[in-house]
Amino acid sequence: MGTEGILIKNGRVIDPADKLDAVADIFIESGKISRVARGVKNGADKEIDASGKIVLPGLIDMHVHLREPGREDKETVCSGTKAALRGGITSVLAMPNTSPAIDSAQNIKLLKNIIGKSAKADVFICGAITMARQGRQLCDIPALKQEGAIAASDDGSSVDDENLMLEVFKLAKKEGILVISHCEDRALSANGMVNLGFTSTRMGLRGISPESEYKRVERDINLAQKTGARLHIAHVSCRESIGLIADAKKKGVRVTCEATPHHFTFSEEAVLGYDTNFKMNPPLRSKDDLVAVRKGIADGIIDVIASDHAPHTENEKDIEFDRAEFGVIGLETELAAAITGLVRQGFLDWKGLARRMSLTPARILGLDKGTLGAGKDADIIIVDPEKEWVVDKAHLISKSKNSAFLGRKLKGVVEYTIVKGKVAYKA
Ligand SMILES: [Zn+2]
Ligand SMILES: [Zn+2]
Repeated sequence: MGTEGILIKNGRVIDPADKLDAVADIFIESGKISRVARGVKNGADKEIDASGKIVLPGLIDMHVHLREPGREDKETVCSGTKAALRGGITSVLAMPNTSPAIDSAQNIKLLKNIIGKSAKADVFICGAITMARQGRQLCDIPALKQEGAIAASDDGSSVDDENLMLEVFKLAKKEGILVISHCEDRALSANGMVNLGFTSTRMGLRGISPESEYKRVERDINLAQKTGARLHIAHVSCRESIGLIADAKKKGVRVTCEATPHHFTFSEEAVLGYDTNFKMNPPLRSKDDLVAVRKGIADGIIDVIASDHAPHTENEKDIEFDRAEFGVIGLETELAAAITGLVRQGFLDWKGLARRMSLTPARILGLDKGTLGAGKDADIIIVDPEKEWVVDKAHLISKSKNSAFLGRKLKGVVEYTIVKGKVAYKA
């Protein structure tokens, strides 16, 4: 890192770790935050006027599919992290369902090499739980951790074998590694595509029941309770899952969870037009579930907002609904979706937003980030909270354009993304 100093003047600085929400200046030096105070007069090489803007710790998205290695036609570490920067995200957790899967120390080395060469933001690695994510043979999880994996997940699939999953939790407890669970009982969700109920009936497609999710949430909470391991539940979508997690937290089980922007913005009605950009797993649920997700985020039962950024090519999305891939991109829209759908609607204040999108994911992942304290990495974003924009395919940086927010008007534009003291993105 260079030693060039940057002074961010007069922004409304939000730091949930310090319970700070006030107009202040931030002085950055040698890649670190040096001072946060009013009227800082250091001789910075560069000054940024942030009057009327919101200054937040860089966002940390703990659920991202960068697709490299193996599907560089969908996304790469380079294109995905560029998209992240535009969205105000300075750190991502890369999920292991690549090709090959990140199921060995050797494959982590391969990915680290790619990251070292091409990442524009910080990329952390989630290792797989089972070999090739087949749910049969455990990975050498201690070896993955040794090589740098900071969590373990078979995301995209759930490990059906309960005894095997018990072994995973025991190992996770011993190794101090976080288990991230994609909760889906495929015996129950088999070949479903949309929420089970009137939507699946009206569309003539098989349904995915909420039960297929919450039964697996219940199982994994029990395993976490039995072993004392830390569990993070990915993309909760229904009221029952949130209720189970709330109860588990009350009992002291070490469980956290996340929700995606599509699950706090849309309900299943959005999918009735057969637009495949509303096909994702878990599916968009009922209006009642949408209410429960928003309330869960407001209450803090839902700890984290994460995108589940899942790029797919036009060939995989712009086809018949039943043949299209599951998943949508989210890096470039998640902050604006949260400002528009949560802050503007009174579900979160700015501190709450910074907590769900930066501080809490940092704490869950054990990263010394997510705050604007002196001495911390200068990962900082400057946001114009009033500026409106329409999500347009032509302007998305991500290689894939499968966004559920296409054509929608959102509020909130990232003006600067600073990574370790350097301006990495400027609008
Ligand atoms: Zn998943
Ligand atoms: Zn995912």
